[in-house]
Amino acid sequence: MNRKNFLKLSSLGLTALSFKLKPLPTAAKKPIVISTWDSGMAVNAEAWKILSTNGKSIDAVEKGANQIEDTINCCVGLGGYPDRDGKVTLDACIMDEHSNCGAVAAIEQIKHPVSVARKVMEKTPHILLVGDGAQQFAIENGFPKEPAVLSDEAKDAYKKWLEKSEYKPIINIENKKQNGPFAPHFFDDGSVNHDTMGLLAIDNHGDLSGAVTTSGMAFKVHGRVGDSPLIGAGLFVDNAVGAATSSGLGEEVIRICGTHLVVEFMRQGYHPEMACKKAVERIVNRDRKKAKEIQVGFIAINKKGEYGAYSILKGFVYSVKSNDENQIHKSKYLLEA
Ligand code: ASP
Repeated sequence: MNRKNFLKLSSLGLTALSFKLKPLPTAAKKPIVISTWDSGMAVNAEAWKILSTNGKSIDAVEKGANQIEDTINCCVGLGGYPDRDGKVTLDACIMDEHSNCGAVAAIEQIKHPVSVARKVMEKTPHILLVGDGAQQFAIENGFPKEPAVLSDEAKDAYKKWLEKSEYKPIINIENKKQNGPFAPHFFDDGSVNHDTMGLLAIDNHGDLSGAVTTSGMAFKVHGRVGDSPLIGAGLFVDNAVGAATSSGLGEEVIRICGTHLVVEFMRQGYHPEMACKKAVERIVNRDRKKAKEIQVGFIAINKKGEYGAYSILKGFVYSVKSNDENQIHKSKYLLEA
């Protein structure tokens, strides 16, 4: 500061004051885990066992995702909705604080695709393995082959879908969902639910990781891969900035490289909620009419442990666990249906 400015400030009595009042950087909130949907509460609880004992975020997100893969659930794991040929094909990915990442897509008869994704990350020079190759790699790495066991709900829904066998990749059901968080997941008009599990964690060391696991869109064309296992679409982590994950109509997320975009908005200084909102706007602005028919939701966390979410339509929720809270939050949304 030059002498003239110093004197000017002194005359206002501001020099000492302004230095004294300079806000201290707020300590990052850690550990913390956030995840998509209300089913994230149980997932977070599993991740928390690792985070609360000084463990690494990459282990926490893997174990959290394993929790829901172990649960007979219509939208994740071997109990998930089948594709239109009656086959359950699973997608998953994982990413750590060094931008190491691994993914599997359209893998069959393997219970823990997210753990296979981690092995891809750790044991191969590649990022994404698909279909039979992914299954073969899993078996070679000690994962047992297990038949898919459809949940009763998935079985019923598939039977019902077969009546018309109409391929209608529209997922927008929250507004129709009146009977509690998990029911129903399938509607007469062909729309189906989406409960992809995406979770993001910061550990005690301040490191960020994320994971996603899903059976993808119900009754999809065999071989279809959504956003969930694609780094930059369904998941992105940048340890200097933050992380994001998504749920909803994967094609729309892929089109905008959704989670990469959210992280880039956070890099520009936007709060996680605003970063998610701006990514949602990108989808909506492309085709507003179509956007009213679909759902996409993003959740994001920044390096400070601030978090937020935004979705196209009402109904997207996410779960948060930290030392201060353990609860489900409603996402803000852009459009009234
Ligand atoms: N995003 C997933 C997909 O398109 C669907 C979901 O969120 O459940 O495969």
